[in-house]
Amino acid sequence: MHIAIPAERLAGEHRVAATPETVKKLVAGGHAVTIERGAGLAAALPDAAYQEAGAAIAADRAAALAQADIVLTVRPLDEDGIAALKDGASLIGQLNPYHNHSLPALAAKRISAYALELLPRSTRAQSMDVLSSQNNIAGYRAVLLATQHYPRFMPMLMTAAGTVKPARVLILGVGVAGLQAIATAKRLGAVVEAFDVRPATKEQVESLGAKFIEVPMSEEEKMANSGVYAKEMSESYRQRQGELVAKHAKAADIVITTALIPGKPAPKLLSAEVVAAMKPGSVVVDLAAETGGNCALTRPGETVRLEHGVTVVGQINLPGLLAADASSLYAKNLLTFLGLLLTPEGLNLNLEDELLSATLVTHDGQVRFPAAD
Ligand code: NAD
Repeated sequence: MHIAIPAERLAGEHRVAATPETVKKLVAGGHAVTIERGAGLAAALPDAAYQEAGAAIAADRAAALAQADIVLTVRPLDEDGIAALKDGASLIGQLNPYHNHSLPALAAKRISAYALELLPRSTRAQSMDVLSSQNNIAGYRAVLLATQHYPRFMPMLMTAAGTVKPARVLILGVGVAGLQAIATAKRLGAVVEAFDVRPATKEQVESLGAKFIEVPMSEEEKMANSGVYAKEMSESYRQRQGELVAKHAKAADIVITTALIPGKPAPKLLSAEVVAAMKPGSVVVDLAAETGGNCALTRPGETVRLEHGVTVVGQINLPGLLAADASSLYAKNLLTFLGLLLTPEGLNLNLEDELLSATLVTHDGQVRFPAAD
């Protein structure tokens, strides 16, 4: 098989979908790999390292994609990228299925496109789970971003010049990113509290040494949130939650929000009034900025310093800020996923395999997403 990796086109996207390590494995498996010139540079991966691993370097994207049976990307391809694909090729990456308007164009070219965000959160899929590998990085990076804007120490310090109090960090949303944010803030010496609508997260929060903030829930509400993904909550729950979150946010020095509901706008957890009541010098980092933000004052892609001294960070694509490790983990996820498709004889698309069928968004000239219930 011919496998190609184009350079990412989105501004600020520094990741790349293959590394010399994964290229080496693909080449050893008998495949021909082509990398667009400079595709890995921003992730500290020069062309020479790919060549040493056995890849060919193509002068531009069109040349890289022209012969490719399989194309690996981080982000969806733009119009020109889709036009450059060979008819009937396979495309694998984070294809943003809920907001991707290019699926009909992919189907028209009979592309088999796999959106890895749709992998089931099962044990079998864990080693291919791009959301986990990348959100883990986002959680870590969010804490470091907060420290950049926070004008105080994170740990408690006792010095001859006086004692410094530890920072109080509040994490809203305890999925993969939230758990890593808790662990990172703890490592830096902060006092950490966390909240999630899924009751199952209480134990995970406490096992990391943080305090879980509990919103009283009815049995019905608990049942509704016993799955892996959160559901949209009732007005009455949102009110109870809002009051409690407001109380803890006002006492916090740093608030990191990570709450997402797949395919839906991010739930609003911090109102403008709550942010207005936060202490001068405190910082909000909103990891949900790309899907509308958990904080009412977030401006996606911007860092805003409010008049009363609170900073709201709406940085998007945090994994892209740690491009080398993010690419390394992402590329391994993709390599494992490819293992489901590649056989010594070529591509074998087994639609009985739930991991393939759940992620396949266009195939055989059809758009398959959203799947009919
Ligand atoms: P996510 O990015 O979809 O959402 C982040 C968190 O926000 C979630 O924990 C969610 O419950 C929470 N949230 C949503 N609405 C909220 C609200 N109104 N208030 C507070 N919190 C809110 O989550 P994720 O990191 O992708 O993880 C999703 C699930 O998948 C989790 O249950 C996780 O344990 C599970 N998971 C399983 C595997 C596996 O078994 N292979 C791997 C990774 C994650």
